[in-house]
Amino acid sequence: MSKAVLIGSEIYRNSQFGGKHPLSIPRVSAVLDLIRAIGICDKEEYQTGPCAKPELLQRFHTPEYISVLKKTEASQEISEIDAKTYNIGSLSNPVFPEMFKRPATSVGSSLLAADLVIDGGRAYSLGGGLHHGMAGYANGFCFLNDLAFAIHRLRELGIQRVAYIDLDAHHCDGVTAAFPEDENLFIVSAHEEKRWPFTGGIEENLVDRFLNVPLPSQCNDTEYMFVFENLVFPLLERFQPEALVIQGGADALKDDPMSRLSLSNQVLYKVLGVLLGLSHRVILTGGGGYNPWTVSRLWTGFWALLSGRSIPESLPATAIDLLKSLSWQRKTVPKESLLTSVRDIPLEGQLRMEVRNLVEQVLILHRYNVN
Ligand SMILES: [Zn+2]
Repeated sequence: MSKAVLIGSEIYRNSQFGGKHPLSIPRVSAVLDLIRAIGICDKEEYQTGPCAKPELLQRFHTPEYISVLKKTEASQEISEIDAKTYNIGSLSNPVFPEMFKRPATSVGSSLLAADLVIDGGRAYSLGGGLHHGMAGYANGFCFLNDLAFAIHRLRELGIQRVAYIDLDAHHCDGVTAAFPEDENLFIVSAHEEKRWPFTGGIEENLVDRFLNVPLPSQCNDTEYMFVFENLVFPLLERFQPEALVIQGGADALKDDPMSRLSLSNQVLYKVLGVLLGLSHRVILTGGGGYNPWTVSRLWTGFWALLSGRSIPESLPATAIDLLKSLSWQRKTVPKESLLTSVRDIPLEGQLRMEVRNLVEQVLILHRYNVN
């Protein structure tokens, strides 16, 4: 097994998007606490993600945007014109005390992840996965785009063929926009159809460049695995990547409030397990995930897999207490099963004809001959 490193930071515990923002829930901090309570991370497996400097951030983001982000963090005020130009100060991308430092730490963490896997290995940038971030403005809760930096860093270090796989319920419009023409980057996203940001439609498929699978609402484990086994895995194998960058968003899980997909974490564990076998360099990041229980359980299980451990069947009392102590602003209280295990009951179901047809259509667009 190649070495694995978990990259976190206390900035995610000590900062808040504020108010009723969907990200104002414990996520990275809950995962770190849960991992420690279960005892599945040795001291040498953990590193703190550094905060990326403005000069570095300007290699992808525009200098004007970075300067406004820094200035607004300091003053906690934004002019009407800047708010409009940079899409800041909205409900989605609010002005808050760590609005520069927090995403800059995500960039630093994902850059560190790229450095760590270069000679083979796995790294988990827990606070990374800001896949909507644009070069010149904030977008969809993402002020910066750590994934673009990680891919560029792999290139700088001599890795050419990179496959980016996005497990989030939303399409990765920021990553796609960052690499409009790049023959050595295969961007793969299976996301919910007709959902914000409304990109990643079936027409956005291009051989070995863009694999977009818009999944129908209520997609279950059976359908998701069908898509991966018949479409995603074979096309990834054909591409022969030298490294994988996986955005491991947790909002495709059934109990997440921001999508209508209906997956259990069991199918995402299976998918990650197969992906880990496709390359000996793997960067995994966080992403969406707006239910504190489902997101912290999934990412804890992801770390177990990434680090070569098995996913715990049962939890120690301290871990259960920790899950019980989490809270969110919604009235819904978590089901008992979300508090006692990091494994969901699988959500197998009917394989709908529309999913079969979708896979067939996309295969044709990729000129993949099934026989
Ligand atoms: Zn998402």
